[in-house]
Formats: sequence, structure tokens, C-alpha cells
Amino acid sequence: MSDKLLDKAQLESLTYAQIRIKDFTLDDNLPVYSPVDGSIRKPPGFDLGALDALPLEILQELLSFLDLRTLVDFLRVNRRALQVVESIPQYEAITTHARDALRAILSIETGQWISCNTLYEKLCTAECEECGDFAGYLYILTCKRVCFLCLSENRKYLPLLRSHADRKFGLPSQILRTLPCMKSVPGRYSPGLKKCHNRLVLVDYDSAYHEGVMLYGSASAMEKHVSNVSAQKLEEFNKRVTEEKARGSHALLRRPKTSDAFDRKSENPLRFMAIVRIPWLNKSSRELDWGKGRNNLQTFDQLMFDGVSRRVAHYTTPNIQLLQASADPDDASEFRILVDDKSIKYITIDAGVYEVDDMCFGPSLVSILPSLPSGKWNTGYITRHPTDGSPYFASVAEVKFPGIKNPWCEVQIDYLELRMGEKLRSNVYEATHPQFDSTIVVKFARFDWEIPQLDAETSAYQWIEGHGIGPKFLGHVSEDGRVIGFIMEKISDCRHATPEDLSICQAALSRLHNLGIKHGDTNKHNFLIHDGKAILIDFDCSTQNNDAGILDEEFRGLEGQLCDGSGRGGVVMLENDAA
Ligand SMILES: [Zn+2]
Repeated sequence: MSDKLLDKAQLESLTYAQIRIKDFTLDDNLPVYSPVDGSIRKPPGFDLGALDALPLEILQELLSFLDLRTLVDFLRVNRRALQVVESIPQYEAITTHARDALRAILSIETGQWISCNTLYEKLCTAECEECGDFAGYLYILTCKRVCFLCLSENRKYLPLLRSHADRKFGLPSQILRTLPCMKSVPGRYSPGLKKCHNRLVLVDYDSAYHEGVMLYGSASAMEKHVSNVSAQKLEEFNKRVTEEKARGSHALLRRPKTSDAFDRKSENPLRFMAIVRIPWLNKSSRELDWGKGRNNLQTFDQLMFDGVSRRVAHYTTPNIQLLQASADPDDASEFRILVDDKSIKYITIDAGVYEVDDMCFGPSLVSILPSLPSGKWNTGYITRHPTDGSPYFASVAEVKFPGIKNPWCEVQIDYLELRMGEKLRSNVYEATHPQFDSTIVVKFARFDWEIPQLDAETSAYQWIEGHGIGPKFLGHVSEDGRVIGFIMEKISDCRHATPEDLSICQAALSRLHNLGIKHGDTNKHNFLIHDGKAILIDFDCSTQNNDAGILDEEFRGLEGQLCDGSGRGGVVMLENDAA
């Protein structure tokens, strides 16, 4: 073994993972800096007038208190001014070690809120101002050092559009104009590389919040005011809708925005538009540290890596399976999905966000969906983001969906325990379940608007129970505790009725009428012919009815129904159904 000691760089290269993670912060979106060779710069031709009467140290000290916008304006006065500014120790440290931070501040025009001294002090501070961990980033809307986790999670680091700040904190424009604000640089932001084409004017969240509290006297008074305003806006909107309807107009009115845009945290590009990476300058040792090799604080790379692995854990692509779809090219489309084989979620996608073909093919839908928000929710709404136009979850919620009101049978099977087989209709499948020896048929409400239909049919099966009129009812199907459908026996070796089956179909219908029930939809596909007998199905239009005239009318109409060649009631999938 060699006793030769490794030098610092060799040691670091062996002990720290050499990862260079692009977070797509503001500095990743600045034009590449190309230094101009300063060696041939001419000596100053003019002086600074009265200012030159001051000793240089005093002048440097005074200038270091200037805000960066004014300081940069000053250094452009003449070559002497530039020479003096460049001699300020704080400014020199900034241009040497944090040039991108300075460039970024000037690019988003926040220089007027940040002094040269403040930026220097932040360069010489290692810890996150929120949590005290080592922080490798600077939030340059107000110049705060912040770690990755805080910048992506803490609400203070989410710059707001002025309109959003007004909606959230009830700020009039004369106050909004005074808040620290920035103009974003178009580019790609956040680890998710969200493209933002426009220059957005964004204000500092924390400043807006405090102005709101000052204006209304307290946080609760502010919140009350804001909720009153949005309730009023909503009321005005509803009134206008009613008026438009009364006039017979079909004009689509824009619903006022009353809730927050969904914050995608580490995937929210707004959170990265005022963020630059910055090293730590140790004032006493004058050493520069990007976070490597310190004992008591986590290293920069470790933190970066933790941030990334945490994000990966957070956003690990879940196993998403498209169960059912009801897609419409001109209106919102609805999807029922299964996440990680254990939770069923309902997603509504706004019209025009995706192509219908892309949405209805399971693997394709899964690949184009935005990351599923974490937390407990069962219904989500996807639309285009107002700032960058990309699809995003505008809202998610945990909703208590309606269920079938009258679960009369003792047997109840969880939907997730069923193994689905062939699809017979959009909401009818063959399936297997350990509790049953043979294939069963499952009929259920794919979406909550199908519940009333299933509710009616479930009751009808109770009325005919034990009379051999329909397939045997085997039990209810539940999802997350609510009953959404039922299972019945599979009638094998059967076919739909033809005009030749009139007498056996009449016999089956008579048995139903004898119970005082009108079927409601006696088309030929609702009679299954098996073993010389007709079995009735599809009771969702059935009603209890003792009016002999009405029942007789249905009976007499049967012959015509069996001769109907229109295909009505057949296994036709008119909707865009996906399995
Ligand atoms: Zn922090």
C-alpha cells in the first residue's frame, strides 16, 4: 500500500459523487457569459468630480450601500467610476464568485431591492434562512439564501402574478405597484423543464402577504375580505348565467377565478424563475465552498442528491392503469384509473387538452398525464396552465361519491378483488372471483352519473329474485366502501332473440308482468335464448306498475321489437370506450 497522501482535489473526487444536476433555475436560462479581456482597458479619461475629493475607502464604503441597479448605473458613468466600483471588496467578491447571481438580478430587474452589501452578506452565509440547513441557492426577488427543499415547498418562494396576489390578499393596485417585483426571463424552468415563453411580472409572496395583513389589520380579516370578494364575484357570475339563459343565449361565460392555481411545488416553474445557484464564501478563510467536505452541515452534493431522490420518491411514476374512459372531443372527458393496483381515481380532462385517440389508449394516456399530485384524493381536474399552457392538475379533491342506496343482497364483493375478463358493454364485463367457481358477469357504474341507472336495476333484481326471469343475482360490487354495481351469473351458450322466439319471449315477459313490473326496454338483445328458454336482462328502465293497460301495451309491442332490424340495444359501442 502506498503511503503517499492524496491531495484535496483527489480526495474529493473519490469521496463525493460527481453529480451535476441541472435544476433549471434562472442561471440555467441566462445567456452564456463570455468575459471580455480587460487587460487592454484604457486608463480613465475623466474623474468623478466632487466624489473624488473623498478618500477611496470612504467612497468604496458609501458605494457598497447602494442598490445594485444604481451601482451598475454609476459604474457606467465613465471608466473612473468603473475602476472605483471594481475596487470595492464586496463587489469584487460578487463578480468573482457570484457573477451569475448579479447577472440574474439585473436580468429580472430586482436590482433596486438588493444592495451590494446585502448580496455580499448572502454570499458569505451558508445556511438556509428558513430551515438552517446548508443552502446552495439564492432567491433573488428579495435576496434570501434558501435550500432546495424550502424553495420548492415553502409558499414564500412562490412568486405571484399581480392578479393572483390581488385575488389572494385583496391588494389594490397602488399597493401592488410598491411590492418587490421581477420580470421573468423566458426559458425552461424546474426539473420538469417546463417551458415559459412570456416575460411574466411576478411579485414577492411574503411581501404581498404582509401588505395584505397590514391593510386589513389581521390575517383573518384579510382572509374574510378575500372570501367575501370571491363569493360576490361568483354570485354576479351566476346571475349573468341565469340572465343569458333567460335570453336564450348559449354564450359561454368565463367563470371568475376564485381558488388558487394548483402549486406543483418542485415542478412549478414559477418557483425557479427567481432562483440562482450560489456558492458559500467563507469570510475568514476566504475559501469558496459549494458545500463539499464540511462535517456539521450536510454537503451541497448530498443535499442536491437528497432533493433529487426525494423528488424521485415523490414523483416515482406510479403504476397507472386506465380502467374506463368516456371521451368527448368537444367537451370534458372522464377517466376512471387505477393507481398502484390499490386506489381508483376519477380524472376529468378539459376539452382540447389532449387528442381523444391519445386519451383512450391506456398506455398513451398514462404517458401524457401530468404527474399525479401526492396526498389523498380521488378526483382530479386537468386543464391547461394559464401561464405556460401545459396540461396540469388544476385541482384534486377527496370526494364522497354517491352509491347504490338499496344493497339488499348479503354478498358484497370489492371491485379490486375481481379479475376482469372480456368487455361485453361499456360497463358490463365478464370476470372471475375466488368466491365463485365459474365466470361471472359484472355490471357497474363507471362514473357517478351512471349510479341512478344501476340503482334502479339493483332494485329490479330484488323484485324478480327467485322467479327465474333474469340471470341469477349473485351480489353487489363495491368500490372504496360504496356500492357501484352488481354481479350476476353468466348465461353461457346463449343468443339474442329472433322473431321465431316470440312465444318463449312472451312467456318470460308475462312472468315479469305477473309481478307487476314493466320491463321498459324489450328489444331483442334484452332476451337471451338459452336451452329453449328466454331470459330477460337489462332492467335499468324497469318500473313497478300494476296498470294492466300499460303492461298489455308492452306485451303487444314485443312482436314488433323482435322483428326490429335497427340493431337498437345491440352491443354497439358508440362512445369512445377503453378497456
Ligand atoms: Zn431550507
